[in-house]
Amino acid sequence: MATPPPFDDRDGVIWYDGELVNWRDAKVHVLTHGLHYASSVFEGERCYSGEIFKSREHTERLHKSGRIMGFDIPWTVDQIEEAKVATLKANNLTDAYVRPVAWRGSEMMAVSAQRSKIHLAIATWEWPNLFGEASVKGVRLDMAEWRRPAPESAPYDAKAAGLYMICTLSKHAAEAKGYTDALMLDHRGRVAEATGANVFFYKDGAVHTPDPDCFLDGITRRSVIGMLKDCQVPVHERAIMPGELGSFEQCFLTGTAAEVTPVAEIGGHGYEVGAFVKGLAQDYNDLVNRRVSA
Ligand code: PMP
Repeated sequence: MATPPPFDDRDGVIWYDGELVNWRDAKVHVLTHGLHYASSVFEGERCYSGEIFKSREHTERLHKSGRIMGFDIPWTVDQIEEAKVATLKANNLTDAYVRPVAWRGSEMMAVSAQRSKIHLAIATWEWPNLFGEASVKGVRLDMAEWRRPAPESAPYDAKAAGLYMICTLSKHAAEAKGYTDALMLDHRGRVAEATGANVFFYKDGAVHTPDPDCFLDGITRRSVIGMLKDCQVPVHERAIMPGELGSFEQCFLTGTAAEVTPVAEIGGHGYEVGAFVKGLAQDYNDLVNRRVSA
């Protein structure tokens, strides 16, 4: 398979500070606070058959992430909603990934950046599934060495660039060992999440998932919990210790990019890619494509 072109060498348009600009012209200066100090927040969204799933929730989370990082994004939720639609339309996309990103600009180049301007860009591109072919057979996860920090150590409920430093480190280490992704524990040693998706387990007709008390409570996670409850499947949000990993029958990840992805293995524990997880992945697909009502 041909290597896809780099992200700065593609055609199309990107919404950048209020205007649609040529894809290749959507640049920042090297002395940008967001680049040096991770003062950047972003969203990952998916458009299905012309409609972004939970669009407004994503935009509201983007605003909230900015506020947590100490800045207000200078476009309202309604303006950002319109901008996302305009960008998809200009790129002629109906099924696509949507990536809004807001960051501190170049006015100040030190830890303090009170006077920096806040920028916003929105890019859209075709992206079938985070894990591609591997998602059909179930992905294999390694155990990550890095742990999700305590709530007193990092603003865990912001979708902020800085929190992804340990995710990239963990994902790269897992890939180097032939795994697709890594399962991260939290600061207490409890099961937390994968590097860009939430984790769920299934046994004896019930679903178990960690409490999102120090990692992102994903929009997909909440949607899937809602679907399961509608179908009278018991969902236990609770502390899960690594010692329990061998006791579950099936396992899956949820996220905008991951959608519902079956997991076949975590650090030596095998899981069946069974009827439950396959059915749930199909139900999620029906939901986002509006083949069933929410
Ligand atoms: N955790 C992390 C670290 C993520 O990057 C994501 C993807 N945004 C998720 C969980 C899932 O969140 P969502 O379902 O809102 O995409």
